[in-house]
Amino acid sequence: MLSNFPIDKSQPTTRDIREANRLQILHQLLLRKTSTRQELTQLTGLSNATVANLIANMLEEGLVVEAGTVASQGGRPTAILAVNASAGACVGVDVAETYIRFELYDLTLQNLAEHEIELPSTQKEPQEVVNMIVSGFNTLLDQVGLPSDQVVGVGISIPGPFDHSTGVSVFAPSWGWRDVPLQSVLEKELHIPLYMDNPLKFNALAEAWFGAGRGVETMAAVVLGTGVGVGLVINGQLFRGASNTAGEWGHSVIVAGGRPCRCGNQGCLEAYVGAPGIIQTLTEIDPKSPLLFSDDQTRTISAIATAAEDGDTTAKAVVYQTAVYLSAGLSSLINILNPEQVILGSWVAGALGSVMLPELLELVEKQSLAQPYKSVQFTLSQMKRNPVSLGAATLVLEEFLASAGRQASAIRSESFR
Ligand SMILES: [Zn+2]
Repeated sequence: MLSNFPIDKSQPTTRDIREANRLQILHQLLLRKTSTRQELTQLTGLSNATVANLIANMLEEGLVVEAGTVASQGGRPTAILAVNASAGACVGVDVAETYIRFELYDLTLQNLAEHEIELPSTQKEPQEVVNMIVSGFNTLLDQVGLPSDQVVGVGISIPGPFDHSTGVSVFAPSWGWRDVPLQSVLEKELHIPLYMDNPLKFNALAEAWFGAGRGVETMAAVVLGTGVGVGLVINGQLFRGASNTAGEWGHSVIVAGGRPCRCGNQGCLEAYVGAPGIIQTLTEIDPKSPLLFSDDQTRTISAIATAAEDGDTTAKAVVYQTAVYLSAGLSSLINILNPEQVILGSWVAGALGSVMLPELLELVEKQSLAQPYKSVQFTLSQMKRNPVSLGAATLVLEEFLASAGRQASAIRSESFR
């Protein structure tokens, strides 16, 4: 709805600009591991004076350290700078439907420890999951003997829509949860800043920092797993939408009155290209197929992939039919968003991606408008680590670096009084 009032386009304050500049420098330092002041000036486009001034503050705060020297053009040694890895630690937690994965990182996002627990996919009480998160978090820290006050924050991914402003898990279909105030319950147990969201957002963040989305302004990080969705980066920023549900693309109807979906609707994209949907397609083509392993989604999907690569007619038909459904979803995504990059990620994309991609791209090209199709690049995700827990830890780092800047500038403005 269009507002009758002018939108508030207040100018950014000096503090906002300073904070954005600091983050830009820290991003470059984190991506390149080490850098000199001169290189940071070139990489960020900021002036020599701004970079020198901000680096001086960050050295004083202990966020940045000198890690040796290198000869400069004039022969004088110049300092090599790095983010101070030991200034704190971040934790990323991926609460999935069948497991909870915990990862510990230093402030340069080097992995320090990891821990995983199985989660039987039966109905779960919220308190049960909370207890498992707390005990898994403690086990993770115990591995390296890190006291919890060294952890600057914990990023937690929760399946299903999550209300970012209230910290409420809106709907977790596998566990039958509705409107669970998960964040406040966990905060009472952990006493550490928590950043919670759903895996679509964290996956996109990891791709934007470390994957095929590096340096891309507008991208769609598609998740093809048991569930289906997309994380959107628009103009270099994670896009959340009005109530943080942007990216629930798996629940777009592609077949009117089609297969029932676990969201309660019918004919959703997820019901056709999520793992259970692909398995249903196989069952419809050949109910007695030897590729079917009851109750084992992962094994069935990987059997389909291997058989299709070997030229098996049934498996090839399943892959083609999946490409037909997926291309309908992808072409609308391309027409709406006009992205530079579409990254296909998660385990189903990992298994079926390479065998499906040629047919999929042909179908997407036929169904998309020519102009947005010309400017988009498709890639399969190259992420080696679990992108969700890495993305959750990355969000913690971003928030910590931004808040460290806010605290530092608050202290400085205090001292002027
Ligand atoms: Zn649905």
